[in-house]
Amino acid sequence: MKKRWTVMLLAAWMLLGCAGTRIEVENVIPTEKIGGSSLYVKKVENLPDDFILGMDASSVIAEEQSGVKYYNFAGEEQDVFKTLAENGITHIRVRVWNHPYDADGHGYGGGNNDVEKAIGIGERATKYGMKLIVDFHYSDFWADPGKQMVPLAWKDMNVREKADALYAFTRDALKEMKKAGVAVGMVQLGNETNGALCGEKNFENIAKLMQAGGKAVREVYPDALVAVHLANPERVGAYDGFAKKLGTFEVDYDVFASSYYPYWHGTLENLANVLNGIAETYGKKVMVMETSYAYTGVDTDFSGNTISDETSNIVKDYPFTVQGQANHVRNVIDTVAHVKNGIGVVYWEGAWITVGTESWEANHEKWETFGSGWASSYGGSYDPDDAGRYYGGCAVDNQAMFDPEGRPLESLRVWNLVRYGNEVEPKADAIRDTVLSFDLKGTIELPETVDAILTSNETRQVPVVWNVTEADLQKMYAGGVKTYDIAGTAEGLPAHAYVSMVNFNYLKNYGFEDGAQDPWKTEDRGGADQLYVEEKITDSLNGAYHMHFWSAKKDSVDFSLFQEVTDLPEGVYQFTISIMGGDAGDTEIFCYALVDGVEVGRAPMRITSYGNWDTQTVKDIRVAAGQTVTVGISVKCSGAGNGAWGKIDDALLNSQN
Ligand code: CA
Repeated sequence: MKKRWTVMLLAAWMLLGCAGTRIEVENVIPTEKIGGSSLYVKKVENLPDDFILGMDASSVIAEEQSGVKYYNFAGEEQDVFKTLAENGITHIRVRVWNHPYDADGHGYGGGNNDVEKAIGIGERATKYGMKLIVDFHYSDFWADPGKQMVPLAWKDMNVREKADALYAFTRDALKEMKKAGVAVGMVQLGNETNGALCGEKNFENIAKLMQAGGKAVREVYPDALVAVHLANPERVGAYDGFAKKLGTFEVDYDVFASSYYPYWHGTLENLANVLNGIAETYGKKVMVMETSYAYTGVDTDFSGNTISDETSNIVKDYPFTVQGQANHVRNVIDTVAHVKNGIGVVYWEGAWITVGTESWEANHEKWETFGSGWASSYGGSYDPDDAGRYYGGCAVDNQAMFDPEGRPLESLRVWNLVRYGNEVEPKADAIRDTVLSFDLKGTIELPETVDAILTSNETRQVPVVWNVTEADLQKMYAGGVKTYDIAGTAEGLPAHAYVSMVNFNYLKNYGFEDGAQDPWKTEDRGGADQLYVEEKITDSLNGAYHMHFWSAKKDSVDFSLFQEVTDLPEGVYQFTISIMGGDAGDTEIFCYALVDGVEVGRAPMRITSYGNWDTQTVKDIRVAAGQTVTVGISVKCSGAGNGAWGKIDDALLNSQN
């Protein structure tokens, strides 16, 4: 009896202890492998026990207010935080905006994540044995490499006043969390602060603000890690430059964290190199603070997604399937776990799903009322250029780890299974698209096999049946230049062949996809620093390769790129080529055609900015039997900024009909 009283008193002390509220912790993070999963997971070797397996769940409360219900694997409605912990999530990340509300108190959306919301999420994370990663944006709404807007209340402050306000805000927010009993494991000094923070762009000022934030963290949660967070690990030297400046200005922090969205952010090898460099040079811990991958190309909330089946010019390392999503997560964990001082991986917004499956109108009302979309119309009062124009629902519902009804996807098991492996028999998970082109005057030959991507992410050739009739093929011959999507079936899965009917292209290696320059030739008059065939899918017009140029010195970009073609049939031809680039200064760029060394036509071209391709055609190239045709592009740029740069791709020499 006495013993029981002691236990009860101890429990009461734990609940009402002098440090504030004690949350009764029911640690549900498994310490053993979860059995029975159909998910293929290759074990991550030597994964440290304390490796952070995190989930940003910032939107959950706004989702719940919008009527979203979450379920566990048994099909029972359950606190989503419990479900996350039960599947191996150790940390919950939450963004904090200073005051995401307009003058009338309407939320800007994106979860309306203020300090109060963060505490609500932190309490539930703590309850199930997880720790909180607090992501202060130091803005009233989204902060990322594109914008770091100052909170309205601080807009007239000088940097010293702003640092004081930032210190007080951080201290008070963390004190509130501490009072509520939230287990804070890490605090971020800004979100994706590549070149700015809180409206400041000068690094000395950024450093002052970071020092102020870090000081508050050390005072209130001395055991928590202090993190800085950047995006774009693919930008050569960017992270090292930032870390160096942090050192120069003596910013006190523990963790250098990166976003890693594989569609745009380079390879895992590059990520590992960059993080290793930071760990070795500056002695910091490193991690991936945000990553995600689509499990479907389909939108589920009537508000378009960042990534869909139609998104072009992105790196797609895995099919958009539940297994593909899990393979991505597993491989990011594997990469970070084997980097020096690699401490964790956090998934971004795995519980942000549609608020309804009825209609855009019904969802829109919820987004406006509860802030469960990325931005409400009210967000426009603070951020007119982005939120004010494009407000709407969730742009990542197809990257969640829950389905549109709130049921966990099998991929959620990956957070547990990476520790143990679950190498079930690999089977076909998706069929890789087949891309073909045929001459209008030639023969269409569809392949008898296609590549199946297995659950293990290996590739295997499998037989395919195409749903195409002889009559369909005749229509394609007669239909002129056009691309067709031919459906098929392989291993019971849908297959697609994208067949382009084209005029025969007399150029070889026309899109540089051989990965080498031959048979293209260059005449480098200016002595450019860089002029070569480059592999970079995001910078190519089509395929993975293009011709790249860059040169720092003024007037050093001055070259021609050309290809000679002999034994053309007599006739009239046209030549087409594309270019993009920037920092060009004054330019003289044109594509041209020579017949037996004599110019017969040229078309002026221009470069403006990244992603804006200029495509031009030289027409009426008359060729007699035995003549040699030379087609090419001449590029001359005076240069500006860091030097003129550009990309050239997809050259065509066709019969002109
Ligand atoms: Ca959507």
